[in-house]
Amino acid sequence: MIKDNLDLVEHKITNACKRAGRDRSEVTLIAVSKTKPISMIEEVLEEGILHFGENKVQELCDKYEQLPNHINWHMIGHLQRNKVKYIVDKACLIHSVDSLRLAETISQEAAKKNVTASILIEVNVAQEESKYGIRVEEALPFVEEISKLPNILVKGLMTIAPFVKDSEENRYIFHKLKQLSVDIKTKNIDNVSMNILSMGMTGDYEVAIEEGATHVRVGTGIFGERNYNI
Ligand SMILES: *Cc1c(COP(=O)(O)O)cnc(C)c1O
Repeated sequence: MIKDNLDLVEHKITNACKRAGRDRSEVTLIAVSKTKPISMIEEVLEEGILHFGENKVQELCDKYEQLPNHINWHMIGHLQRNKVKYIVDKACLIHSVDSLRLAETISQEAAKKNVTASILIEVNVAQEESKYGIRVEEALPFVEEISKLPNILVKGLMTIAPFVKDSEENRYIFHKLKQLSVDIKTKNIDNVSMNILSMGMTGDYEVAIEEGATHVRVGTGIFGERNYNI
């Protein structure tokens, strides 16, 4: 079942790349394994997927310990400052930086462990009340501030689009995030590259790829529905 799901996702990614005139190698599929057991992750791993996303620190650490260390773990969920120390040397990319204080903590903890943390700035393009992320207008000054911190590289932007029935409704959001990343890139800020655009989930990753996503975060489409009650 997981293999069939993966084949379908792969097929859709390939086609979205073709439609957009992009090379398949420009898009990284992150299998979002939150709430899912080790056995299912191993199944996905066997299919050659090496990028996994988790949204809770404890869960990421547990899985990190139990699974092969060539896996690339992505921290995609809201991150509390007191938990940064547990993942700063485990996550290859932190997708959800949306405050200067959080960035400062990441910088400090990365320095302590003698690593450089790669991060994305989470932007709340849709301006949904319930979501984390900074506003589009705040992004440039925010990136400029963070770029001054040691042991941190800003690799790009991330957004979570609203849940919609028709993924076309989210196209303008992905378009806007791409535009923002291009705007920031032209400023040539030290320690800032803007090569990564993390956008698109099960419901809308094809549209996100058409609009320039380099990393799509797919959970349900690979692992099936999540059950939070077990
Ligand atoms: C859970 C989650 C996803 C995956 O969602 P699906 O709709 O299951 O693909 C992607 N991004 C973030 C930030 C998430 O928390």
